[in-house]
Amino acid sequence: MRLTELGRSLFERGLTHGRTGNLSIRVGDGDSTDARSGSGDTILVTPTGASLGALDGLSRIGLDSRHREGPPPTKEAFLHAALYRARPEARAVVHLHSPFATAVSCMDGLDPASAIPPLTAYFTMRVGRLPLLPYYAPGDAALGPVAEAAAAGHHALLLANHGPIVAGPDLATAADAVEEIEATARIFLLLQGLPTRPLTEGTVR
Ligand code: ZN
Repeated sequence: MRLTELGRSLFERGLTHGRTGNLSIRVGDGDSTDARSGSGDTILVTPTGASLGALDGLSRIGLDSRHREGPPPTKEAFLHAALYRARPEARAVVHLHSPFATAVSCMDGLDPASAIPPLTAYFTMRVGRLPLLPYYAPGDAALGPVAEAAAAGHHALLLANHGPIVAGPDLATAADAVEEIEATARIFLLLQGLPTRPLTEGTVR
């Protein structure tokens, strides 16, 4: 799946709006000319001010978040770098301000260790446990180490009053997971006030 096609698809289906959301892929050391970061891998990430619906060019940054070439990266690029550092197998990261997941991220009284309960088997398979990270202002680099620590144990995170971010082995898998978060967030909101029976370890399979 190409990054521009995924961006357009997410935009056209209302999973992102305006110039919000950002996508990235990790590329191998054959593309790097700078060995100072300690790793040859670099990250191709959507530029700042770009609409995912009309991507035109990508920025290249290092795993250290430093800008390497191309247009200036999204100011959330440091979050992508944090997830790649925490998860060496990750090749793609998708971050959206999708409406239902963002609505859940604003709710009071969530379990920080599991923001959306395991309501369906698909959520447990594609997302697993979804930690809620504390709120940081947009672009606040202090979120980087917090996200990196959480991502070591979880490929999907929910940023409080903000939205989900997911790492995956490829763009399609990361997109599947973030869409599963959005669908399950919608179900979670529909179930508010209703007696609910989340899945348990023994009932998932
Ligand atoms: Zn964001």
